[in-house]
Amino acid sequence: MSTENSEAIRKQVEQYLSNKDLEIELEDANKEYTIIYSTNILAQESDDTSKLTRNYWINQNKNGGQISSPWGSYEHVQQSSLVANLLIFAKYKIKSITKGWKLVCQKCGSEQQGPIWRNSLKSCEQCGTQYKSEDKTKIAAS
Ligand SMILES: [Zn+2]
Repeated sequence: MSTENSEAIRKQVEQYLSNKDLEIELEDANKEYTIIYSTNILAQESDDTSKLTRNYWINQNKNGGQISSPWGSYEHVQQSSLVANLLIFAKYKIKSITKGWKLVCQKCGSEQQGPIWRNSLKSCEQCGTQYKSEDKTKIAAS
């Protein structure tokens, strides 16, 4: 891969990871692992978006297991560099980029959507029905 391409990839990755609305999934060439970069809220059930924090973890695709995170903190510069290197040198691919969620209420049919995948509504704003996981769909970033 040329140096110019590598530079473009580094810039792109930097942009993706800087955007807290995005959830990014990377997959290795053998499709054994998925690395997920996501934004979580620190305090559960909190609507305080100043408490949003980036995190990442690894899923084993075969067993469906999540490898528990051995890392204590998320450092943006380090992670941007790591992701770029995985794409450039280790033949990882970007599997998906999600820019938000959409929820459709099974009871009243109302639709709600927002950014940050991990920070969606728990219940319908119109009728109060609790959402189930199958009510929620990803909005892909094009
Ligand atoms: Zn509803």
